[in-house]
Amino acid sequence: MGSAQLVCVEGGPPMKIDAVMIPALKDCVHCGLCLPECPTYHATGREAESPRGRIAALRGVVEERSSVSDAIHDGLESCLVCRACESACPSGISMENLMARYREQTRNVRGDFSASLESWLLSYVISHPRRLNACLNLVRILSPGLRIFPGNEDLPARHRLRPQPPVPQLLEPSGQARGTVSILRGCVADRLFREETHLAARLLARAGWRVLVPAAGCCGALHHHAGLVEAGQRHASLRWKDLSAAEVDYVVVDSAGCGSHLLGQRDSDSPPITDTVTLLAHEGGFVAKSRLPGRWAISVPCHQQHSDLDSTTGISIIESCVEERVELPAQDHCCGAAGMYLLRRRKLSRKIGKMAHERFEKSDADAIVSGNPGCLLRWEGLLGSSRAKHPVQILAQSSGLTPI
Ligand code: SF4
Ligand code: SF4
Repeated sequence: MGSAQLVCVEGGPPMKIDAVMIPALKDCVHCGLCLPECPTYHATGREAESPRGRIAALRGVVEERSSVSDAIHDGLESCLVCRACESACPSGISMENLMARYREQTRNVRGDFSASLESWLLSYVISHPRRLNACLNLVRILSPGLRIFPGNEDLPARHRLRPQPPVPQLLEPSGQARGTVSILRGCVADRLFREETHLAARLLARAGWRVLVPAAGCCGALHHHAGLVEAGQRHASLRWKDLSAAEVDYVVVDSAGCGSHLLGQRDSDSPPITDTVTLLAHEGGFVAKSRLPGRWAISVPCHQQHSDLDSTTGISIIESCVEERVELPAQDHCCGAAGMYLLRRRKLSRKIGKMAHERFEKSDADAIVSGNPGCLLRWEGLLGSSRAKHPVQILAQSSGLTPI
C-alpha cells in the first residue's frame, strides 16, 4: 500500500485520501463498545453515523472498495468530534485525529457550502480579533430581528454580545504571591465570555496568585476540528508562546475545548494546563460564603471528560457553592453544540440538544453548570441565562465577588 491514494468520488473530482489513516482504521475490532456512547448514533439510529460505521466507511474508501459517496461523506461529516467513543474504545482509536485528517483532505474537493463558510469564518474572521469583534457587533445589532424567527435559540444571549471592559493584563494578589498563572482569553470567548475571564482572574488573585492575562487570540481548536490542521497547530503554538512568555506555574484555560487542544499541542517543557475551578480545588485559597439556592446539575464538557484534562477535582468545590447537586442522566453525553457544529449541522445539533434537554428535565434539576463556552451557549438557549452558569460564575457568586 502506498503512502497515498487517489479515490474516485461520485459526481466529483478524484479525492486524495492519505493512507496514514489506515493503521488506526485497521485497529477497529468491531466490538461496538463505542455505540452506546455516540450521540449521533443515538439521535439517528444509523450505523453510518456511529464510530464503528464511520471507521468501516473510511476503511472501505482507503482500501478502494468504495468511493466517497454523498451518503458516506454525510455520515463522516456528522461526527461531533465529542470524543466519547475514544473513552470506550479498547483499541485506543482517536476519532478526533481521524476526523481532522479526513476533513483536511476532503474539505476543498466536496465543495460543501457550509464547510466552505466554516473555513472562511475560521481563516478570515475568527483568527482576527478586530474582524471578529466587528462581526459580533453586527450580530448584536441584528440579533433582536433574528430572534423573532423560530430556530434562532442558539444566538448568544443579549448580555453576552454587549461589549465589556478589557481584562487587566496583570492582577497582583494582596499579600505574598503563591505563584504565577497566565489565563487564555481566547477568540469568541474573549467577547462572549469576558465576564467569566474577569471573574476568574479576580478569584485567582484573591487566592494569592499573580495573574497574567496576555492578548486575546484563537487557540486553533476550531480549526483542528474543521480539518484546518496546520492552522490549528499554528494558532496553538502562538498561544503557547504568549501564555508562557513569562515563567508561570500554570496556564489557566476556562474552556474545555481550548484546553484539550492546547494540551495536545504542548511541548514537554510547557507549564501544566488547568482551569480556575480545578486550580482552586487543588491548591486552596477559595472559601464559599453562601450556597446558591436550588438543585444544580453539573455537565462536565466532553473535551474535559475524554481528554487528559482533570475532570473530577473541581466538582467538590462547585458542590460546596450550591444548595444541592443532582446527577444528570447520561451526563457524559454531548449537548450537540460542539463548536462550529452548531452552525454547520444545525438540524442534528438541535436534535442532540433536545435530547440533552430531556435528560435535564428527567434530573429534576433547576439549573446547570457547564465549563465550556459552546456548551454554555447551548444551555443558555435551552434554559435561559439565569439557569445556566459557568463554574467561575458560581464560585464568584458564592464567595461574594460581584461581576464587573
Ligand atoms: S467523536 Fe462523538 S460523534 Fe464522533 S463518532 Fe465518536 S462519539 Fe460519535
Ligand atoms: S469501540 Fe473501538 S474497536 Fe470497538 S467498534 Fe468502536 S471504534 Fe471499533
